[in-house]
Amino acid sequence: MITNNVTELIGNTPLIKLKYPSEISGCEIYGKAEFMNPAGSVKDRTALGIIEDAEEKKLLEPGGTVVEGTFGNTGIGLALVCNAKNYNLEIVMPNITVQSKRDILKNMGAKLHLVDTKPYSDPGNYQKVSKQLAKDIEKQTGKKTFWAGQFENLANYKFHEKTTSAEIFKQTDGKIDGFTCAIGTGGTLTGVSVGLKSKNKAIIIACTDSQGSSMFNYFTNGKPEKKGEESITEGIGQARVTKNLENCNVDQSFFVSDQECMEMLFKIMKTDGLFLGLSSGVNICGAVKLAKSMGTGKKIVTILCDDANKYYDKMFNKEYLLSRNLPYADWM
Ligand code: PMP
Repeated sequence: MITNNVTELIGNTPLIKLKYPSEISGCEIYGKAEFMNPAGSVKDRTALGIIEDAEEKKLLEPGGTVVEGTFGNTGIGLALVCNAKNYNLEIVMPNITVQSKRDILKNMGAKLHLVDTKPYSDPGNYQKVSKQLAKDIEKQTGKKTFWAGQFENLANYKFHEKTTSAEIFKQTDGKIDGFTCAIGTGGTLTGVSVGLKSKNKAIIIACTDSQGSSMFNYFTNGKPEKKGEESITEGIGQARVTKNLENCNVDQSFFVSDQECMEMLFKIMKTDGLFLGLSSGVNICGAVKLAKSMGTGKKIVTILCDDANKYYDKMFNKEYLLSRNLPYADWM
């Protein structure tokens, strides 16, 4: 295979049949291998979708600057896309993210601004700081400066509708019974739900919510209320209905604790050989719950968002896991 530009390698990821989750549920559970995207996560799609949309709308000019508030993976995806397309990148990130994500961004040449972790209602929240930063840079440089705004920018979910959902439908020959994943911006779940439902309304779409997030309650009783303690997962968990979530078509909701997530991640390393990141553990647990609720013989798909390499400080830190009463691997 020859490609002219690394951005052409974003998407078209394989579906992997997950052995252990399929065995314990009596269903066929598949994971979409988003960790195989060139910058390593499902957010490569969001980055490309948003930048291509901005280019079409003439919101960017060569040598201009892209600004985004991100927990990391969108920033890393944007760093790849911006480098490949000759844009500068400035990232605003909450200071609770793992060090490795900050290092990757800096090493890829992005300018990084770390801010204290504040709720969305606070003007110091990283998303709001990033929006203001884009305005400030435009004023200073006089060059078009584009705020990516992944939570509110609908190009995010639309790219998942166009690519992720279409790929899943094709890869399963249309014989998919259910799909589930967790929510960060909601881009993946909304895009895949809209795309799959447009092909077949009977496909069940479920939200899998991590602990400390408000989406389980939102989709079960209409109230976005937090359930459980803060999670150790990154990039997922949401307290509000983002613009990208407004069109989300959800039939069911499942709740996954950090305990269940960690047990699944360590188990699946040994049964399936998959070295996955934290949110993938939540997604796989959700897929097993969806499979069990639907009955045996169904075909269920979820997202393997990224791999474990960025999360060593958490996943392979015995003291940290013990301090949180979480399980650790036998081999640690
Ligand atoms: N998993 C990881 C590791 C992520 O970085 C993100 C994005 N923040 C998600 C899942 C959630 O994806 P989305 O923003 O499409 O809801």
